[in-house]
Amino acid sequence: MRPYDDFMLGSLLNSPPMRRGAVFVLLISLPFLTSCAIIPVFKPTPKPTETVAKPTSASVTAKRAQVLMGTMVELTAVAPNEILAQAALTAGFQEIRRLENLLSTWIETSELSKVNQAAGQEPVGVSEETFTLLKRAIEVADYTEGGFNIAIGPAVRLWNIPEAPRIPSDMELKIAAQYVDYRNIHLDPTRRTVFLEKPGMRIDVGGIGKGFAAEKAAAVMREVGATGGLVAVAGDFRVFGKRADGTAWPVGIQHPRKNGKILATLDSTDEAVSTSGDYERFFLQDGVRYHHILDPETLRPARLCQSATVVAPDAGWADALATGLFVMGPVKGMALIERLGFGAVIVDAQGEILVSSRLRSRVQMVP
Ligand code: ADP
Ligand code: MG
Repeated sequence: MRPYDDFMLGSLLNSPPMRRGAVFVLLISLPFLTSCAIIPVFKPTPKPTETVAKPTSASVTAKRAQVLMGTMVELTAVAPNEILAQAALTAGFQEIRRLENLLSTWIETSELSKVNQAAGQEPVGVSEETFTLLKRAIEVADYTEGGFNIAIGPAVRLWNIPEAPRIPSDMELKIAAQYVDYRNIHLDPTRRTVFLEKPGMRIDVGGIGKGFAAEKAAAVMREVGATGGLVAVAGDFRVFGKRADGTAWPVGIQHPRKNGKILATLDSTDEAVSTSGDYERFFLQDGVRYHHILDPETLRPARLCQSATVVAPDAGWADALATGLFVMGPVKGMALIERLGFGAVIVDAQGEILVSSRLRSRVQMVP
């Protein structure tokens, strides 16, 4: 098995299908960005990888990659035989596709698109899953003091990184600021409806959707008969069980400033590892990096971190918290993670690396 490159953490997100490419292709393009004033990150369509089945002891390992949720999804399944391993992969991909159709705001008929279309007009009934996701998102918003905020949609649209990178005017941001208060998202559990109070509001689950989907895909793979597996949706990883040789899954955390290099590794079983970084989707202008994780206070790219990795029992939590921590910064972010009893590796704006207490004995820094 290749050491860590299969499990490198990166992240891409809520863009329409096929616009975002493989993390690795993207990373190769980064060195060229520094030489020009504004260059959008170019993400060509990735090549699907081939299925590999490697019998090891009594288990087989199967692996496949597909573009879903606008990014490269890689699934690995360990099962007692090839048929079960392949069935687990197929079921995992189906599950992610199903959730994409519910949650993607790039699909006009999705539940969330309907919620956005009815902003300021009426509550919209949604499935239990969408409701659960939104409830979780609001919880994380509270935990992160609004650092994680799914009402950020109007500002995300203004920046539109990396598709049409441009710095919005102060006036544009001031107007958008009227529509990004997550407390104006009303969830009614009895009727299972969602109501956006003001016309112009727009939910964006880019910071939580992939983790949520990874969690569900892992559950389905297990149900189908996989004893172990790895779900990698760009920078959001969910692992369960063990590899075919009985060892844990090695997960690598991408170095935020060294293109294609691993910052640290950890061995994982039955947990989620998510990274949010300023190196995945960004443009440079006059030497300043403008990236896709916005501080809801300023509606400008958050400036306190280069990357934030969260290790948590659930991938939805890990994904949302990684985005939230990135905004909160190392001091408040690490304090929150310690309080929750989760793990984090944060690279602050100066490149200093902070590791939470629970992860200190598990994380290996790569020189
Ligand atoms: P990635 O998409 O690279 O995995 P994240 O999980 O951090 O990274 O999600 C970033 C995406 O979340 C952005 O592209 C945008 O759609 C949305 N977003 C941006 N800022 C915030 C924020 N402060 N809170 C919640 N979502 C955000
Ligand atoms: Mg996230």
